[in-house]
Amino acid sequence: MIDANVWDVIVVGAGPAGAMAALRAAQSGAQVLLLERERLPRYKLCGGGLIGLTLQSLPDGFIVPSLNQAKSATFTMNLAAERTRTAEEVIIPMVMRDTFDAQLVDFAVEHGVQLRTEVLVERVEPGPDEVTVLTSGGPLRARVVIGADGSTSRVARAAGAKFAQIDLGLEVEVEVPDRIQQQWAGRVLIDFGRIPGGYAWIFPKGDRLTVGAIAAKGYAQEQRRYVQDMLRRFELELYPQAVSAGHLTRCRTNDSPLAADRLLLAGDAAGLLEPWTREGISFALRSGRLAGEAAADVACGRQTWSVAAAHYRDAITDTLGAEMTVGFRALAAYERHPSAFAKALSSTGTGWRSFVRLARGETTLARAGRRPQVRLALAALAR
Ligand SMILES: Cc1cc2nc3c(=O)[nH]c(=O)nc-3n(C[C@H](O)[C@H](O)[C@H](O)COP(=O)(O)OP(=O)(O)OC[C@H]3O[C@@H](n4cnc5c(N)ncnc54)[C@H](O)[C@@H]3O)c2cc1C
Repeated sequence: MIDANVWDVIVVGAGPAGAMAALRAAQSGAQVLLLERERLPRYKLCGGGLIGLTLQSLPDGFIVPSLNQAKSATFTMNLAAERTRTAEEVIIPMVMRDTFDAQLVDFAVEHGVQLRTEVLVERVEPGPDEVTVLTSGGPLRARVVIGADGSTSRVARAAGAKFAQIDLGLEVEVEVPDRIQQQWAGRVLIDFGRIPGGYAWIFPKGDRLTVGAIAAKGYAQEQRRYVQDMLRRFELELYPQAVSAGHLTRCRTNDSPLAADRLLLAGDAAGLLEPWTREGISFALRSGRLAGEAAADVACGRQTWSVAAAHYRDAITDTLGAEMTVGFRALAAYERHPSAFAKALSSTGTGWRSFVRLARGETTLARAGRRPQVRLALAALAR
């Protein structure tokens, strides 16, 4: 810091986007303060499924606190037509987000990030050379601020972010005995077709099963019934529920700002999320990494704000943006023909192999979406 009262970079929010952004900014030479409104570890409503792109985006040396490694997936269509398929390797490990996120923050702190928890960021006020951050603990100043404060982001509001798709996720954490844990070990369940564009899941994590459903905002009652029906159908309704709650997810419009007035947005705050599956942890880590590097470049004088901001926008558009474009197309097709997706995954070799490759990060939606037969199939189904 040149002025001892001005941080190089302040990161708002200590989820995966914020922890990764803070870590990368510190590793790139910046003095970084990470602010989080909760005491850590904090509960985060999430399936906690880590796809391959997430695992590939974690910092070297980070040990994933995995509670279940699924090699099998059971698919159902509106809770019927059950079919289980098994891969040779792990498709998706699962974590509880409180532990995973706290470990990622610890990792960032070990690499030089300063952390302050139980500090609520109330407002950000950008100026020409620095940003004032008004918090419950008093004002702070930084050369660059990264908004990684999730789907209710105040930094995103200040930057003028716009959202094309808003979804509601509902989840119940069911505490289950050994016998049920054994039944679900190494497996996930995905149910299609009950609510247009929505789906439901059971993600096992040791002594808990996360049972959830996600769909466009506006179907809350149907979603609650959906989760209750899932619990009944899989004989889980009598076990204690540690948590039952909801959380919004949002996908950005193409022209929504990712950088404005020395503010950079990452993860859910930016509306970076795969629109079809609503997978967001890999988007948070990948955008956090890019935002941290861009912020450090500006703060350390290696790049002007406008060059670094343009570079960040381009990098996001070329990678996560391209994946989101295909995700929107997949969602439009799935919304109209959910049974085609359920059948492809549960009953065809190509569908199952594609699912495994996508889940394991051996390909991306953007790459898959460039294949002519995928493009044509999605366009035909979306009509
Ligand atoms: C029901 C559901 C299931 C999901 N399942 C999966 C899944 O299985 N796999 C997957 O990859 N993705 C999943 N997602 C998406 C995933 O949870 C998010 O995309 C991911 O958490 C985004 O990370 P983030 O760091 O951007 O935001 P968050 O994880 O939301 O972190 C934001 C942090 O900012 C803090 N904060 C917020 N406001 C302030 C403030 N004003 N001041 C200070 N701190 C603040 C919050 O307390 C929080 O710690 C799911 C989402 C939902 C809703």
